[in-house]
Parts: sequence; structure tokens; C-alpha cells
Amino acid sequence: VTATLPETGRLARARARMTELRVDVLLCSVGPDLPYLVGYEAMPLERLTMLVVPRDGEATLVVPELERPRVEERPDFVIRAWGELEDPVAIVAALAGPARTAAIGDHTWARFVLALQDALPSTRFVSAGTVTGPLRAVKDPVELAALRDAARAVDDIARALRTRPFGGRSERAVHRELVELMLDAGHERANFAIVATGDHAASPHHEPTERVIVDGDLVLCDFGGTMRGYCSDITRMYSVGEPTAEVADAYEVLRAAQEAGVAAGRAGMAAEAVDAAARRVIARAGHGPHFVHRTGHGIGVEAHEDPYVVAGNTTELVVGNVYSVEPGIYVPGRFGMRLEDIVALAPDGPERLNRAPRDLAIVA
Ligand code: ZN
Ligand code: ZN
Ligand code: ZN
Repeated sequence: VTATLPETGRLARARARMTELRVDVLLCSVGPDLPYLVGYEAMPLERLTMLVVPRDGEATLVVPELERPRVEERPDFVIRAWGELEDPVAIVAALAGPARTAAIGDHTWARFVLALQDALPSTRFVSAGTVTGPLRAVKDPVELAALRDAARAVDDIARALRTRPFGGRSERAVHRELVELMLDAGHERANFAIVATGDHAASPHHEPTERVIVDGDLVLCDFGGTMRGYCSDITRMYSVGEPTAEVADAYEVLRAAQEAGVAAGRAGMAAEAVDAAARRVIARAGHGPHFVHRTGHGIGVEAHEDPYVVAGNTTELVVGNVYSVEPGIYVPGRFGMRLEDIVALAPDGPERLNRAPRDLAIVA
């Protein structure tokens, strides 16, 4: 359930984009497009839920009868509840009509995509992301407020961790604590909590283990969840005791790279330029081969969405874009580190939504 109800203008904007792309009908099922457009999140069931949005004409939410009580009715769509003995694919196919091009939600179960392709043999299917991606990438004030609140909630957790002992606890124990803290802080969902210690952190998406944290460990905490329908995502680093000179030096490079990436953001510049700004600092320090991923990703109703901050993405940044800046340095067999903030592009430049201290916290 999305607590932040979208304004009804979003469907109109989706239709304008459909006209531009010559898409006749938009089909949204499970995944973030549906809550983004109409405030309803489909349960990931084997029963089909699908919003059918013709370019001209009324939108219809096809929903299993038993799910109907969860739907908040709105003036911008009608509800077509289907009973257990009906064929929902046939209902959607009839509503979609003889569409030449249908844009279908990127998260739709393959079995429904295949069944719809069979039911609409003369229709060409394209990714709904081409319609909704650019819309979702530009946040309105209500979305910005939700993203700011979500960022503040995880900031408080990152700050609280600075005064908690890490030594003697397992990665999994810290992981569980992070999940609980996110829920306590008002997130309806904890999406992930990476806790990677020592050489484990050299793997950027390490799964927490029973490894017990010891003195001298560098601990990477990257966590985020969903609050009022919008995602948080932050990475902070903790050193159990004083770091070695090698780690301290690398961390200064990382901080400078992250700062450069954040400061680089400007409306009208290519998304890849932000990646280049951060990467340049790491490469100059000789750690280029140790920065093995893109600098960031957009964030909103989904933890990863447009715009992707990566070499090759020449899409121009615009005011209202919200994205992560999260360079990392990963030295196999030794240590790994990453520093991540969410940044909103305001008319006068980048605004960090995360404000938790960015220095390497020395913890017990
Ligand atoms: Zn993250
Ligand atoms: Zn991230
Ligand atoms: Zn290196």
C-alpha cells in the first residue's frame, strides 16, 4: 500500500508520452508503475492485476475480486473486478483492443506477458519503462518530501551506529538490527541491509554471514527501505578501532570522489558526467581498477530507477532528478569501502538528502 497518493495528473502525463512514442495502450501489473500512477500496489500473486490505459479513453483496473476491497477508488480509472471462474487475460485483451503497440510493465510475470502475446497476436509489445521511466525520474514536491523524510530516517540510524559497539557481533546480528531500526524509524519495508566486514566488503553486494566482527575491521553498512512509498538508501563506513594508514588514505580518496560526484550534478549535463567526476578522483589516486561499479542510480518508488549515473548514459539531468552518488574502492582479499548519499537536483544545484556524518566513524 502506498501512503503517498499520487496526484491524478500522472496518467495524463503518461498518455502524452504514449502519444509521443506512438504507444496505443499501457499495461501495468505488479511493480512500481501501478502505485506510481494510481496509488495501488498489486500483490505479487498468480492472479492477474492489470491497469489498462488506452491512449484515448478510460483507464480500467482489472483486479481479482478478492483484492477489490484493497483498491482505493479514484476518478481516473474504473474497476473491473474478475471472479475466480473468469479469464482475466481475455478481459485485458478485450480492453486493450486492436492495439498496434502495447507498453507492458517491466515487472509483469512472464506467464501473463506470454498469454497476452497469444491473445493479441498483431500487437507489438514494448517495455512500459520507456513510457514511465522519464516521468518517474522527475520528482514532484510531494515525492521530494517523501524522499527527504526517508533519507532523514536512515540518517538517524547511520548516526546512531556511530555510538554502538560492533566488536563481538556477527554481520548477521548487525543486519537484523538495521532491518529492525528501519521499521522502527517508520519504513513500511526494509529492502536491504548489507553488512560487510573485513575482506568481505571487497564484494560490493556481500550477503551478511555469521562472521564475528573483530578489532581492526572496517565495516560497510549499506541499507535502505521504503517509507510512504518512497525508497531510502545510504552507505556509511565504520572502523573498529583505528584504521591502518592504507585504509585511512583510501577513505580520504573515497570521500573526495564522493564529494566531487555530488558537486558535479547540474541540470543540462549528461548523467555520465557525474560518474566521470567521481571516477576521476579515484583513478588519479591509482585505485581506478578497484572502483568496479557505476557511481549511482536514480531512486524513487523503486530503489534503482532512472537516471542511472554510469558511463554511456548521455541522458541530460533535469531539475527534480533524485539519484545516489556512491563510489567505492574494493581491494580483493583485503577491504572494501563505499560512501553513498541520495542527491536531489534543485534549480540551484545538487541538494544532499542524506546528512549523516561522512567521516570514517571509529567505533568499539
Ligand atoms: Zn546503497
Ligand atoms: Zn544505492
Ligand atoms: Zn586500490
